[in-house]
Amino acid sequence: MVFNASIRYVADKLFVDAVDVSAIVRETGTPTYVYSLGRARDNIRRLQSAFARLEARIHFSVKSNGSLALLRALKDEGVGFDCVSAGEIRLALEAGATGDDIVFAGVGKTRDEIAYAVTQGIGWFNVENALELRYIDEAAADAGLDAISVALRLNPQIEAKTHPHLATGHGAAKFGLTADVIGELLANQAAYPRLDFAGIHMHIGSQLGDSAATLAAVDSLLALIRPWRHITTINIGGGLPVAYRWDETLPALEDLVDALAPRLCGYGVLFEPGRAIVADAGILVAEILYVKRQAGQVFYIVDASMAELLRPALYDAYHEVAPLQTTDGEMTTAQVVGPVCETADVLARDRRLPMLQEGDKLALLTAGAYGMAMASNYNARPRPAEVVVDGGAWRVSRRRETLEDLIQYET
Ligand SMILES: *Cc1c(COP(=O)(O)O)cnc(C)c1O
Repeated sequence: MVFNASIRYVADKLFVDAVDVSAIVRETGTPTYVYSLGRARDNIRRLQSAFARLEARIHFSVKSNGSLALLRALKDEGVGFDCVSAGEIRLALEAGATGDDIVFAGVGKTRDEIAYAVTQGIGWFNVENALELRYIDEAAADAGLDAISVALRLNPQIEAKTHPHLATGHGAAKFGLTADVIGELLANQAAYPRLDFAGIHMHIGSQLGDSAATLAAVDSLLALIRPWRHITTINIGGGLPVAYRWDETLPALEDLVDALAPRLCGYGVLFEPGRAIVADAGILVAEILYVKRQAGQVFYIVDASMAELLRPALYDAYHEVAPLQTTDGEMTTAQVVGPVCETADVLARDRRLPMLQEGDKLALLTAGAYGMAMASNYNARPRPAEVVVDGGAWRVSRRRETLEDLIQYET
C-alpha cells in the first residue's frame, strides 16, 4: 500500500522514504513524530510549479509545524514564512530567514510583538485592526523606519465549506476587517505616514474543499481595491486541502490556478499554505500499551494521545492508522485511544485493523501539520521526540522532553 511517494509499505513494513520506521522507533522510543523532508520538498515544488503562472511566492505557515529542521529545509527551497506570533518570527529567523522573507499576521498582535517585528525588518504586516495600524506606525517611528508594507486583511463575509472551526472568512468570525472598514482606512491612509498600504490579504479558512468560496472572496477583494492603484500585492492566504484518507482525491490545483490567473494578472501574488506542504510529510508513531476488550469493543490503548495529536479531539479530524508491520491475519474493528483522562481522547474511531498485540506499533498518518505544533503537556506528559528523514538518512531533530523538563519553569 502506498499513501504517497514517501509514506508507504515496502514488503509489509511501513517506510518513510528509504527508512524502515520500526528501525527509527527502536532507537527513539514512542510516541515520536517522523517527517519526510523529501515529501515536504515535493509538495513545495508541486505548488511552486502549479502557481508559477501567477508568479506567486509561498510563505509557509509556521503555525502548522515549527520544527526548525523542517523550516531550514523549506527555506532552502526558497519559501518565505507566514508567522502569527513573535515566537514564530524568532523560529523563522533561527531557520535562516531574513525579515524580508516574513509575513506577520494575526488577529491580536501585542505592542511588544509589533515592536519586535518592526525592528527585525519584517517584510509584510497583515493587519486586522485599525488600532494595530497606529501601533505599527508608532513602532516604526521609534525604530526610525518608514515605508513599512501593510496588507489589510479582508473578511469577505463568505462561508467556506469546511469544518466550522476551520472557517475564518464569515461575518461572525473574529478575523479580518469588513470591506467598508477597509475602504475607510484606505481613504485615511495619510494618517499613518510610515506605512505603505501596498497590499491586501485574505484567508477564509483551512482544508477548503472547493474553490467557489475562494474565487468569490478574491472577486470581492478585487472590487474593493480597484480604486486604489497603489495596491499591487494580493495575499490569498492558505487553506489548500490535504487528503487525509487513503482513497481521497483532491480537486486539481491546476483548476484553481486556471480560475485565479485571469483575476490576479498584473498583481504580485503571495500565498500561505501550511498543511498542504507538511501534513502528508509527517506521521506520529505510537506503541500499543494494552488491548482492552470491553462492552463488545476492542480498544487499542496507545502511548500517544490528544496531548500529542489534538486534531481528532478538536476537529473530529480523521487520521489513517497504519500498523508498522502488516499481517495477513484476522481483522477487527478497533478504537485507537490514548491514556489521557478525557473521553475525547480518541485518536481513531471504528477502524478496520489487524488484530494487534501489546507492544505492536502503529502510525497515525498525515500528522505533519497541526500535530506537534498543537502538542501540549496536558496530564504532565513530556512532549514527543521529532525525527527528520532525508532520503536514506534520519536524525532526531528535537529530543523527547523529560520529566525534569516538566518542572524547569517552576519557581
Ligand atoms: C492558518 C493560516 C494559514 C495556513 O492554513 P493551512 O490550512 O495550513 O494552509 C495561512 N494563513 C493564515 C492567515 C492562517 O491563519
